[in-house]
Amino acid sequence: APRSEPILSARGLTKEFFGFKAVNGVDLDVYPGTIHALIGPNGAGKTTVFNLLTKFLNPTAGTIRFEGRDITRTRPADVARLGLVRSFQISAVFAQLTVLDNVRVALQRPNGLATQFWRSNAVLSRLDARAAELIEAVGLSSFSDTLAGDLPYGRKRALEIATTLALDPPVMLFDEPMAGMGVEDIGRISALIRKVAAGRTVLMVEHNLNVVSDLCDRVTVLARGEILADGDYAAVSADPRVREAYMGS
Ligand code: ADP
Repeated sequence: APRSEPILSARGLTKEFFGFKAVNGVDLDVYPGTIHALIGPNGAGKTTVFNLLTKFLNPTAGTIRFEGRDITRTRPADVARLGLVRSFQISAVFAQLTVLDNVRVALQRPNGLATQFWRSNAVLSRLDARAAELIEAVGLSSFSDTLAGDLPYGRKRALEIATTLALDPPVMLFDEPMAGMGVEDIGRISALIRKVAAGRTVLMVEHNLNVVSDLCDRVTVLARGEILADGDYAAVSADPRVREAYMGS
């Protein structure tokens, strides 16, 4: 069967910092409904690619398309509004608010459920129902009244995922979602990302190759700002150039 059109794609994506090409001519296609990993050794340019795709940085050269639309010159807030949303860095979690109130606030952001009609009681009760649903979805029901600042680390990340989900974005980007986590949290967040990915597209930077192999449908390997390999995990992990980049031999 013919493959669907990519939901997000970059062509010739390049970013120079003072003449140094941190990202150099990257072509990337992310297909709808997939969990796509961006991997590569330190300094490969993964974070820079993320910042370019979400327009936190402007590319030196190249183009980015999202859902068929050219977003190369679009401002970051508008990119998020279009539905390309980066979790963690962008999702504000208020330490002094409870889990429930954090999700309520998120639902009232631009694009959130209640922006336009927040005064109506019907919408407020719908908002609370939706907040409870999201909290349940990320496994935080028993933490509903806990202050976000008091949550254990892994749970805080789950809350950040809930606040991102409040925008119901078709594409979610995660920069190292499991960083600094123990096995238990890694398992929990992996399961959560798999759940989140149902009906949407996920692009993530991930260092843990076990997670990548378990979770991701497609893997792009970056090294020195360029694409080294692209395909499913089995194919890219068998590629001698990828082994060399990781082993440094
Ligand atoms: P990764 O996320 O794969 O570790 P980065 O995208 O963070 O890689 O960085 C790629 C390269 O670009 C690195 O050599 C880094 O030092 C450089 N770099 C990243 N951001 C900047 C910046 N703002 N100014 C100068 N150099 C940068």
